[in-house]
Amino acid sequence: MSKQVPEQRIVVIGGGYAGALAAVRLAGRARGRGAVTLIDPRTELVQRLRLHQLAVGRRVRGFDLARLTGRRVQNVCARAVAVDPDRGSIAVERNGKLSEVPFDQVVIAVGSGIDVDSVPGVAEHAHSLAGPAAAIRLREELRSLRDGARVAVCGAGFTGIELVSELAGARPDLRVSLHTAGRVGRGLSERGAEELRLRLGRRGVELVEGEAVSAVEAGALVLAGGEEVAVDLAVWCGGFAAQPLARDSGLPVDPRGLLAVDATLRSVDHPHVIGAGDAAAIPAFPNGARYRMTCQAGMPSGAHAADTAVAALTGKEPRPFDFGYIHQPLSLGRRDGLIQWVDRADRPKEKVLVGRRAALYKELVTRSAVPSIRWERRFPGALRWPSATAAPGVRPEAAVAR
Ligand SMILES: Cc1cc2nc3c(=O)[nH]c(=O)nc-3n(C[C@H](O)[C@H](O)[C@H](O)COP(=O)(O)OP(=O)(O)OC[C@H]3O[C@@H](n4cnc5c(N)ncnc54)[C@H](O)[C@@H]3O)c2cc1C
Repeated sequence: MSKQVPEQRIVVIGGGYAGALAAVRLAGRARGRGAVTLIDPRTELVQRLRLHQLAVGRRVRGFDLARLTGRRVQNVCARAVAVDPDRGSIAVERNGKLSEVPFDQVVIAVGSGIDVDSVPGVAEHAHSLAGPAAAIRLREELRSLRDGARVAVCGAGFTGIELVSELAGARPDLRVSLHTAGRVGRGLSERGAEELRLRLGRRGVELVEGEAVSAVEAGALVLAGGEEVAVDLAVWCGGFAAQPLARDSGLPVDPRGLLAVDATLRSVDHPHVIGAGDAAAIPAFPNGARYRMTCQAGMPSGAHAADTAVAALTGKEPRPFDFGYIHQPLSLGRRDGLIQWVDRADRPKEKVLVGRRAALYKELVTRSAVPSIRWERRFPGALRWPSATAAPGVRPEAAVAR
């Protein structure tokens, strides 16, 4: 009589773009061999790509996580507080109560937060787009501002640029500034940076460049040179920060606190712990360069994490993650945008797309995230992505993310 092999318990922690995609791909591809559980304290998919829209009062449609991931994924509404790879157990907290979820393999896809600790006063006196609750707090505060009030957005990465543009469009009555230690448009081509500065200027955004914000106080920014700038509201967009789960669990992390993984996305110390999305320090190429934290790379990495877990189920050797960029899409309000074309190694080409067509392109990219998860649920293994190493003219050692 043939003995039935028990199903492996595969747990995905974090139901964002990367985790939700990993869960549905796993549920389909590991069917009959693995039972999939998804842990997230939220019941709705966090649409970080739309947080800046939510913050300025635009309606953002919600998607129920359990419906999105389907019946083959068991959803646990809780926060993971520790992963014990030796015992194969995750401590989870819900409504103040602790319990345990056992696993044979785990995918850590807890995303990232906003770094509010590196600069004094940020956590106390600045808003951020750390998540939907923070975006709603910002929205309420913006609603209470009178005509002519001054709003300072600190940080000219993509989050800061998208927020400041959205804000300037939705609230032309406010005085809006964008602060950065460098130049606005860093990482874009010369033409891209020029277009960006022109378009922000047209929206009435004041650019304050070349001086870091060294502290935020109640009602003021303190610049590195000591000058104080009075503001009615400050929003901090100074970069993403690691979620504490991997570090708190004693798992190997990189200097930023992201789960240290090998090229197949397995933890460098524990092959049954796999990383995906913003939570993982994904080595792009043998020289150790990392991917940027983006949904663009995050969803493919979620799919690849699922494939790595499936390989372990079937006794196959997992393949290295091979992803190449194609664009850096930026919305500049609802009717304007800038698409910076890049090579697979994320280096900008001179060519950009701007204006309404760029805004539409960006909207289509943003809209495609949820259908991709649904599609993957129906047709497991469907998601494909551009390869970096197979791209003509890209040498692996040259293909580094900035
Ligand atoms: C305003 C804004 C605009 C952006 N625009 C773009 C863009 O145009 N293109 C692009 O590619 N990227 C963009 N990004 C970046 C992109 O949103 C992130 O890279 C992407 O969301 C990462 O996906 P993720 O699944 O790894 O993490 P997330 O989307 O952050 O999801 C993480 C999930 O993990 C859950 N979680 C966290 N901690 C725990 C825990 N301890 N236990 C259980 N669950 C946990 C969270 O609740 C969440 O559901 C933007 C980001 C912002 C803020």
